[in-house]
Amino acid sequence: MTRIDVETSNADRTMDANDPRNETRRLSGRILVDGVLREAEADTQFEVIHPGDLSVIGTAPRCGSADADLAVEAARRAQILWRGVPARDRGRMLQKAADAVETEHVLVERVLSLDTGNALRTQARPETASAIDLTRMFGGLAGELKGETVPAATRNVLHYTTRDPIGVVAGIIPWNAPLFLFAAKIAPAIAAGNTVVVKTAEQAPFCVLLMAEIMNRELPPGVLNVISGYGEECGRPLVEHPVVRKVTFTGSLAVGQQIAGYAAQKLCPVTLELGGKNPGIVLADADLDLAIPGIIDGMRYTRQGQACTAASRVFIHEKIYDRVVEGVAAKLAEIRVGDPLDETTDMGAIISAEQFERTLNYMEIAKNTPGARVIFGGEKPVDPKLTTGYYYPPTFLDGIGLDSEVCRDEIFGPVATALPFNDFDEMISQANDTPYGLSANLWTRDLSRALEYVDRIEAGFVQVNQCAAPRSNVSYGGLKMSGLGKEYALDSMLNHFCASKTVLINRGTPGNLV
Ligand code: ADP
Repeated sequence: MTRIDVETSNADRTMDANDPRNETRRLSGRILVDGVLREAEADTQFEVIHPGDLSVIGTAPRCGSADADLAVEAARRAQILWRGVPARDRGRMLQKAADAVETEHVLVERVLSLDTGNALRTQARPETASAIDLTRMFGGLAGELKGETVPAATRNVLHYTTRDPIGVVAGIIPWNAPLFLFAAKIAPAIAAGNTVVVKTAEQAPFCVLLMAEIMNRELPPGVLNVISGYGEECGRPLVEHPVVRKVTFTGSLAVGQQIAGYAAQKLCPVTLELGGKNPGIVLADADLDLAIPGIIDGMRYTRQGQACTAASRVFIHEKIYDRVVEGVAAKLAEIRVGDPLDETTDMGAIISAEQFERTLNYMEIAKNTPGARVIFGGEKPVDPKLTTGYYYPPTFLDGIGLDSEVCRDEIFGPVATALPFNDFDEMISQANDTPYGLSANLWTRDLSRALEYVDRIEAGFVQVNQCAAPRSNVSYGGLKMSGLGKEYALDSMLNHFCASKTVLINRGTPGNLV
């Protein structure tokens, strides 16, 4: 496509201040570098589609290495000044930036819903609030950037460590929770005195660009830069840029491995949040009033199952199997699938044609499996309002073996499988039989069993009798092939976005005062 010129006057912004399509048109063709929303160096753009009705909501620059260079250079210049700003002042600016986003939250959450197809009421609004909360939290934590003093081994030596900024950080984010993940990358990095270049996901660039634009009113130019483009063309040169000294990524395992490979060439540290094929487990003594809605929340059905923490393998004890399965089916029938921007909608649309096809393919495998049963969902909607978007109902299956791709692969769609069990030890080894180790949920009234599960389950984010989504101040990260490092809490800022120096100063002996 050729470059298009888009009106960006203030008059446009006030025409219908909360119409997200006006906003995505205004942001079309733009990147944010050095505090300025500008055209990219790249002369091609790609269309961004609203998954709810397949309309084109705007175009985003298909940046390559020229734009990555431009943004990294702006970040490098800004870093020289930013690292000299006292930490608590940096934090205060970050908090003001969070306040500015909050002032415009109605618009931001609508753009998020338009970008992603996630339902406004159940997803986009709470996600926007969480992104603001996380940004504010890291602003407040900036005063915690402390080193340590160490008892010196030698007399007269002052021995201490520092916590310094690393430099320029690259953030690569996906489309499934773009605002929250954006905040999780940039807030700890910026509070710690780094400057950042983020590459948005090609499917959902506008909400992030908008949030960054608003934050730039409170941050010095160049501290926070945003570019758009495809992975290999734009993400890779950004990661490989010699000035970038830290990479933080959320996305698929395959891309995480590639990024770790690029970063390894320059021994650049990476934080990786990758996939999961997570277990939800219901023991025979569980409180089913908690467990049944918990299975549904845990599967993140109202985000179309497009969550790394989606608990898509649901192990249910044989004694209560039928009751649980019937209870889940009854509750799934209450989920209203529809227009993401409609306040009455519980569950919006799958992000893209590619992800929609992926869900259909796994359903094809499931339906061709002898003995498989569709307990709920499993058919594309026929309602004409839902046939022009990537809508698929919440789907619950059983009769599928653990060796099936349906039970082994991360589908990243609204499809979960129920698995009966009667032996705790065998079930735990089945739950652990995956290369991933992200999250796990268990329901029981037996404290001793719960603690045994906590001990034996191979997952980084473990819950009992609940299945909350990751949030601020709760350290989050995967084991095994689900990732490297932790996010969302103080340890993320201290351990992932700081460089440390060990300092030894021989203070000698005091001189003569006279
Ligand atoms: P998903 O399957 O959720 O789309 P991906 O891992 O494919 O997740 O993409 C997550 C992010 O990584 C996106 O911003 C994408 O553009 C980016 N990406 C994909 N491939 C590469 C790559 N080779 N180098 C850097 N970034 C990449």
